[in-house]
Formats: sequence, structure tokens, C-alpha cells
Amino acid sequence: MQGRNNRGDKPHFGKVPGEIIKDYSYPSCLILGMTILHVVVGIGERKLWLITAYEPNPGQWEDGFKKRAVIMDKCFFCKGNMVEDTTNYMADLDGHFIIIRNVPCHKCTQCGEVSYSGEVVVRIEKIIEKLKGVLTEVAIVEYAA
Ligand SMILES: [Zn+2]
Repeated sequence: MQGRNNRGDKPHFGKVPGEIIKDYSYPSCLILGMTILHVVVGIGERKLWLITAYEPNPGQWEDGFKKRAVIMDKCFFCKGNMVEDTTNYMADLDGHFIIIRNVPCHKCTQCGEVSYSGEVVVRIEKIIEKLKGVLTEVAIVEYAA
């Protein structure tokens, strides 16, 4: 969501992790966020400073986005390089075929071996759990949906 870019010298907010629902006259705003957010703040000069805020990449965090995932940079099987990528996750659930598209992963550039962070595995399990009630023969869903 882009912040309003007013004419004149008032700064604008650029990309914010949510929707700006109130633009105050002093350069400040109220953001409605519906996402997992990491916020870095500091205290100085009797003020609380917002240093940065960002949406953590689920491929890089574990333990409820509290711990940086240990990313293997070498493939377990062929020692090729593991790079950030997305893949389509496929599972066979008692004859019901589930495809989750665009799942963040690390993929070996040599043999194509794929690994998922703990955060991604948890989300995949949640998606599958949700689908269990409404399973058709084949279900195709977006990871980010
Ligand atoms: Zn490999």
C-alpha cells in the first residue's frame, strides 16, 4: 500500500505494511496492519524511535518468526548451492491430491533438492488441515492466499 504523496515538502510514507487509515497533519499516520511484522525501536532523547518495520520472510524465520532459520547453503545430497526459490508443494492425502503453489523454499541449483524452513512447514500443515474438511479429488491453492 503506497502512502499518499502530497504536493509540497511533506514527506510521504512510501510502502507501509498495511493500509494507512488516518493521515495526521504532522508527518505521521495510523496504519491498519493485518500481517506479521518485525519492528525495531530504540529509545533516545526521551523519545521512542521507530528504526524499521518489515514483513519477515517466512523462508528465513522459525519458531513463530522469533528465530532466524538456519539455512543450509550447501545441498545435503550433492553439495550444490542452495538458493532461495519457490516451489509447488504436492501431497497425497488418502487419495486426495493437494498442490500448494508458490511455497517459499531453498532449492539446490544442481539437483533440485528442496528444503523448507520450520515456519513454512507449519504453514503447509495449517493449509492442509484447513483443506481436509473441503477436500475434492484435487485441490490447488496458493501458499500466500
Ligand atoms: Zn543437490
